[in-house]
Amino acid sequence: SPPRRPPVTAERSAPGFSPEAVRADFPILAHQAGGERLIWLDNAATTQKSRQVIDAISGFYTSRNSNVHRGAHPLAIAATEEYEEARAAVARFLGTADPAGIVFVRGATEAINLVAHSWGRSALGPGDEIVLTALEHHSNIVPWQVLAQERGAVLRVVPLDARGDLDQAAYRRLLGPRTRLVALTQVSNVLGTVVPVAGMADEAHRHGALTLVDGAQAVGRFPVDVQRLGADFYVLSGHKMFGPTGIGALYARPGLLDTMAPWQTGGGMIETVSFENSTYAPVPQRFEAGTGPIAEAVGLRAAIGHLHSLDRHAAAVHEEELTRHLAERLAALPGVRVVGNPRRRVGAVPFLLDGVPPDAVATALGRRGIAVRSGHHCAQPALRHFGLDSVVRPSLALYNTHADIDSLALAVGALGRSGA
Ligand code: PLP
Repeated sequence: SPPRRPPVTAERSAPGFSPEAVRADFPILAHQAGGERLIWLDNAATTQKSRQVIDAISGFYTSRNSNVHRGAHPLAIAATEEYEEARAAVARFLGTADPAGIVFVRGATEAINLVAHSWGRSALGPGDEIVLTALEHHSNIVPWQVLAQERGAVLRVVPLDARGDLDQAAYRRLLGPRTRLVALTQVSNVLGTVVPVAGMADEAHRHGALTLVDGAQAVGRFPVDVQRLGADFYVLSGHKMFGPTGIGALYARPGLLDTMAPWQTGGGMIETVSFENSTYAPVPQRFEAGTGPIAEAVGLRAAIGHLHSLDRHAAAVHEEELTRHLAERLAALPGVRVVGNPRRRVGAVPFLLDGVPPDAVATALGRRGIAVRSGHHCAQPALRHFGLDSVVRPSLALYNTHADIDSLALAVGALGRSGA
């Protein structure tokens, strides 16, 4: 029978970056699955956590746990400082000096819902237009759809071309005097398409529209500067950038949050409360009702610290090169169809295997210790463009190696010969 895994050879990596050294920081990558070392190629769903992140969360609960922004005892003061330092770290990570523009939320989904509820309800009226793209994750579609139905606004969708890139000429035609918002992803979670956001944001601004950039799949893959990008709003999920689940962040351009009404209400977001009337705290606390994700913020800060300790440009080069290798290895296998061929692709490379349903491929790979996802990946419109409703999606992160991809290719090749 064929070997289950190819021999591991020395990793070819970008100068200045060693995936092998980074892997050592992620304990789960040393785990055995199905009798072999785990090969984690489900990074678009969630990334693994470094020892630094795990220790930071554990350390917080072990010796520093407290609620924040209330109480004068030392632990409350220290926890509040840590929470606010995490906010400042997120701001710096996104290239802005203004922590007041960072709201902690549960994830990218909640951040988009916050903007749709708070900004959208007051800014949009009947006939106003929201431009989305055919690449969006459902989280950047459904909140705008519900808002549009409520406000009598109209959704316009930038189509994809045959490669899986956005049709830029069509985009320019969609913009007009009623465009209020362009909401677009920076990296597609299903096709891996890297969207030319800065140019598209320029066009949006020329029409007086705001931009919301979904950075869920971008921030863990390359450095992001929200100002250079032209993002009025930018959203991210901690768990897709090596941080914990249950935390994400909304960035808003300075001054924008001040114009927005509160979203969720209750403790933590008020200044004074009486039965007649309540007044609200300044931003960003005005958007953070209830107890926030405190330990998660500590973990997110550790994830950012870990990323800052690496040569991020070299890590990005490594991941783009791995993405090319993944697409090439898959495309060379008999019976495999790689879906899409965008000009610039990072992270995700979806494919189909002749005669084997995507779920069966993912299950069979899982039995060999290779974790990939199958299904619609919360991006049904993007898949429908290719006439599909389900694909297998391996997706990469900076700790993946050429050997991981070669193991995947060997296993998919064997499946193609034998069926699942
Ligand atoms: N946007 C994109 C591009 C995503 O890939 C995801 C998650 O897969 C989300 C938004 C939603 O993120 P979360 O579920 O963490 O809120």
